[in-house]
Amino acid sequence: DLQLSSRVQAIKPSPTLAVTNKAAELRAAGQDIIGLGAGEPDFDTPEHIKKAAIEAIQNGQTKYTAVDGTPALKKAIISKFKRDNGLEYEANQILVSSGGKQSFFNLALATLNAGDEAIIPAPYWVSYPDMVLVAEGKPVIIETTVDTRFKITPEQLEEAITDRTRLFVINSPSNPSGMAYSLEELQALGEVLKKYPDIMIATDDMYEPILWTGKPFCNIVNACPELYERTFVLNGVSKAYSMTGWRIGYAAGPAKIIGAMKKIQSQSTSNPCSISQAAATAALEGDQACVGEMVTAFKERHDWLVDALNKLPGVECPNGDGTFYVFPSFQGAIDADSSVSTDVEFAEKLLTDAGVALVPGSAFGCPGHMRLSFATSMENLEKAIERLQKVLG
Ligand code: PLP
Repeated sequence: DLQLSSRVQAIKPSPTLAVTNKAAELRAAGQDIIGLGAGEPDFDTPEHIKKAAIEAIQNGQTKYTAVDGTPALKKAIISKFKRDNGLEYEANQILVSSGGKQSFFNLALATLNAGDEAIIPAPYWVSYPDMVLVAEGKPVIIETTVDTRFKITPEQLEEAITDRTRLFVINSPSNPSGMAYSLEELQALGEVLKKYPDIMIATDDMYEPILWTGKPFCNIVNACPELYERTFVLNGVSKAYSMTGWRIGYAAGPAKIIGAMKKIQSQSTSNPCSISQAAATAALEGDQACVGEMVTAFKERHDWLVDALNKLPGVECPNGDGTFYVFPSFQGAIDADSSVSTDVEFAEKLLTDAGVALVPGSAFGCPGHMRLSFATSMENLEKAIERLQKVLG
């Protein structure tokens, strides 16, 4: 018999990719499916970024690079942190990886021993708990509700901390809730963390520019500079520049751990794609107008969609602060439908009966909700709402 490791048996395939795949299957079978499941912008990668990649190919930048990223990209990342975040880093504090996913994976493997706890607020990006499990750590989930706009309180954080806590993960603006922590809220969480010097912090800033609170973006290091020495800032070009397929993410933090993460990467994937690194350099150093254009479109769709969802029976949708997701409660609609009892069943029903693909909240540790991505055209959103209306009655 072929034996599987307990490590792989502890995890599941990404549920968001599963929805996307199921929708693709139905589409291939001839069904008309509107996909609101995908976690990627619907815009094309901006032209100047593509051009930099083509030039990289023509210039022969097609070989191995330094494991932790080309000097040019690391320089662009250091400048970005200074310019946008007011944060100073040296080159040995930066690690470029094949997507934000690999950044967090490296971090989990470099910091967690078997049984070490990682605190993850729910609703969470689906990969955090599973990557902690691969590292043989223990995800400790803090649940939230719409009453706190899906944000944890300092009291909840303090309660979740034990002697085994090694890592605290925070993602703002959040996939899937679309909510962002304010500077004051981050300061309050920082006050708790200051009391526990052995806890490392990962702030996942992947959706940084996709924000419409009217206030500047801030993360927990901005709110609490004392945490700089033990905080990892994770970011990437995937969402901000519509570059999901290029696979470039990066991490900044204490040199000791970044070096350990680099060692892990050197024995797994080595450098991220040389051509993508050239493209990412152009993205970070080039004109940022393309980002603003996308954000304007996302905001418009967000406003329309929240309004439309709130008109559906059994659906309640708060306004989000950013990202390209909304995370309404469908609990009323689920309760009103005798043919289903969970959000997972209801999402399946919406896929087959309405031809609308969305991701059930359970996937993010928050049942009763649905994540709808509005990284699709207004026309598709309008059609999706019409179809949901028919099924919801
Ligand atoms: N972090 C969050 C919160 C995300 O939503 C995603 C992508 O879905 C990532 C990280 C990873 O992005 P990448 O495609 O660069 O691996």
